[in-house]
Amino acid sequence: MGFGGWALQYKTLQLMRVLVSNNGSILEFGSGEGTNELAKYFTVTSVEHDFNWLGVCPSSKYIHAPLQSNEDGTQWYSTDVLKDKLPKEVDIIFVDGPPGFIGREPFIDNLNIMPAYKFLILDDTERESERRLVEKIQNKTGLMPISFKCNGREFTLFCNQSELLKLSPTAKKEWFQERCRLRFGPFKGNENSNRFISDVHEDKGWMFNEYPSPVSESIQLETGAFSSIEEALEIAQDCQNSGLPLIDIVSDSDLSPIINAKDDMKEIRKKWSQKGNILTLKAEELDVNFEMPDEWEFENTHPDLFRLAEFVLRHPWDKTLRDDWNPSRKPGSLPALAFSGGVDSTAAMCVMPKNTILGYHQRNFESLLDHTNAIRMIEHLRSKGKTIHITKSNHELIRTFHGKSAGFSSDYACAVHLILLADHLDIGSIAVGMPLENSYLFGGYKYRSFTNTWFWKLYAPLFKSVGLQLIQPISGCSEILTMNIVRSEGLEEYAQSCLRSSSAGQVCGKCWKCFRKNSLLGLPWQMSNEIKTFLAKRPLKMAVSTLYSIQKMIERGENIDWLDEYPDLLELIEKDYSWLENHFKMSEELIPRMYKDEILEKIHAIGQPIGIDSPMVGMKLFEEVE
Ligand SMILES: [Zn+2]
Repeated sequence: MGFGGWALQYKTLQLMRVLVSNNGSILEFGSGEGTNELAKYFTVTSVEHDFNWLGVCPSSKYIHAPLQSNEDGTQWYSTDVLKDKLPKEVDIIFVDGPPGFIGREPFIDNLNIMPAYKFLILDDTERESERRLVEKIQNKTGLMPISFKCNGREFTLFCNQSELLKLSPTAKKEWFQERCRLRFGPFKGNENSNRFISDVHEDKGWMFNEYPSPVSESIQLETGAFSSIEEALEIAQDCQNSGLPLIDIVSDSDLSPIINAKDDMKEIRKKWSQKGNILTLKAEELDVNFEMPDEWEFENTHPDLFRLAEFVLRHPWDKTLRDDWNPSRKPGSLPALAFSGGVDSTAAMCVMPKNTILGYHQRNFESLLDHTNAIRMIEHLRSKGKTIHITKSNHELIRTFHGKSAGFSSDYACAVHLILLADHLDIGSIAVGMPLENSYLFGGYKYRSFTNTWFWKLYAPLFKSVGLQLIQPISGCSEILTMNIVRSEGLEEYAQSCLRSSSAGQVCGKCWKCFRKNSLLGLPWQMSNEIKTFLAKRPLKMAVSTLYSIQKMIERGENIDWLDEYPDLLELIEKDYSWLENHFKMSEELIPRMYKDEILEKIHAIGQPIGIDSPMVGMKLFEEVE
C-alpha cells in the first residue's frame, strides 16, 4: 500500500477485514508502510521490485521481483521469479504496484500464474490506466467489478457473487445496503449522455447523477442507490445482458463507523492535559511539556493535531499510534516554517511567501546545545518587523529513554510545535529547511529519488490527511546554495549553524559544521579532534559539500598540508562539484502547487535550475565501503 491517501488505505484495510477473517492470507503487489498495517491482521506475501522496500515489514514474506520489459515496451515484475515463488492459494490478491508511472496493465497477461484467490482488489482505479485494467479483468474473468469511492480516490473489488452473499448481515449493511449504485459510461459529450438518460428513464424510471470520467473529457452517470447488494448485482447483470454501457457497481465507502471529532477528544484527553499555558502529553517515556501561548485553547484544537503530534514524537517506538484514526481536520490558510535560525532554515525563510508563520522550538532543559545565536537571529528578525513564535519543550528527551542522546525523535519532530499551533494560527501547510544533502543527495554523497523513500511515502500523505501539506522548499538546494541564498539577503552574519557557541555572533570554529561553513565564507577555523574524526570516516559525512569547501580553501591559497593524511580525498578533490551551486529542479515535486512559482522564482534568482541530467543523479562516492 504505497503512495498517498491515508484515508483510502484505511478504508481498503477495513473492507479487507470485513471480507476475510483475521489470519487470512494476502498477496500484495507493491509494498510500503501500509504492509505493516496489513500484517497486523493477515499473513502477508509482498511482491516488490524496489530492494529499498524489502523487509520494511518484518513479518511479511517478501518476493523480490525486479521489473522486466515486455515486447510492447511496458514493464512488469519478472515472471521467472514469480512463477516459482508465488503461493498456491490466498484469500486476497491486492494490486498496488508497480508504481503508477510504470503502470499495472500487464497484470492481465499474468493472470494465469496467479494463485487461486477469493478476492481481487485493485488500488487507484480512479486513474485511466487502472480503469483499463479493471475492464480487461472483467472481460477475461466475467466477474462484476465493485468500486469504492473515498475522497476522490477509488479501489475496485472482484469476486464471485457467492463470496459476497456469504458476508455477515452487518457487513452487508455497513458496506452495501442503500449504498450500491450502477455506473455507466464513458459518454463523449452531453448529447450522448442526455440521450442515454432519457432512454433509460423512459424504460426503467431511474434518475442519474453526472460525474467527470477518468477517460479524458468524458462523462459518467450513476443511478440512485439500490436497497441491497443482491439487488444491485441482479440489475447489473440485466444491464450487461441488454448491452447497456455499464462500467461497474459503485459504493461510497464513507459508511464505516467514523469516529467523530467529539468522541475522539475524549480519547485525546486521556493522554493530553493543560494547566495554565503548559500542555502535557503523558507519554510512556516521560511527561512531555510544551509552553503554549496564553491564548491557545485545548478545546479549539482538532484531535488530529494531537494525534499527529504524538505520532511524530513517538512512532519510532510505538506502532499503534495510527490505529483507529480517521483524520478529518480541514486545512488552514497559512504556510508555516519550522525555523531553527541555521543557514538552511534561514534560506527556507528567504524563499517562502512573506506571510509564512515562523515557529522556533527551544529546549527547556540544560544541554550542550546553545540557543544564543538563534535568539540573536530571532531578535534581528523581530527588529525588522517579523513575528516568530517560540515554543519551549522537553520533547527532545524522549529519545534518551531509548538509548540515544537528546534530539528530535523523527525528522518531522522539528515541527511538532507548529502541528499543535496549527488551529490557533490557521496553518494549512508546514515547511522544513531540509537541504539536498538530506533529501536527494543521501548522506551528502549518494543520489536517491526522494519521493520513493519510505520517509516521503509515510509523511506526505499523513500530513495532508490532517490538512497540513508538507513543503520542502529547499530540498533541491545544497548547503552551498542555501548559503548563497542567505548571503543574498545579507543574513549570513546572523544565520549560524554552529550550535556550540555561547557568545552571540560568534561560532566555535572547531566543530564539523564550522569546518564546512567557515571555510566556505573564508572565516577562520581550527583543526580539532572532532574535525579529524569526521575527515577519517567513510563514507565522508556531507562528502560533496565538504569537498567543495576544501576546494575553496585551495582557491584562497590556504595551507592544506593536513589533507595528506587522507589520500583518497586528494583524489576526490580533483572532481568538479560546481553543480552544488545549482538548484536541483526535480525537487519542485516537494512543493505544493500554490507556492511553487513564487518559491522557484526566488531560488532561481540565485541558483540556476538543473534537471535530471545533473551530475548528481546516479552519483555514488565511496562505493567500496558498502
Ligand atoms: Zn562550531
